[in-house]
Amino acid sequence: MFYPTILINETNERHIVKDKNYCICGAKYNGFFMFTRIDLRKIRFKQDQEITCPTCKSHVKQKC
Ligand SMILES: [Zn+2]
Repeated sequence: MFYPTILINETNERHIVKDKNYCICGAKYNGFFMFTRIDLRKIRFKQDQEITCPTCKSHVKQKC
């Protein structure tokens, strides 16, 4: 299964996007800028094994 993910540069971790501001783990990836088309391009659809944030990853496993 593929999930919408975003790579947060500060931690170099790939998170699952929950909404336009937050990841599933609660990390805010869009706190300082307006949500633009450029930001949308950063979101990539990846398989669960490519998610590197442990909190986001465990959330995926719970659903399965
Ligand atoms: Zn996360």
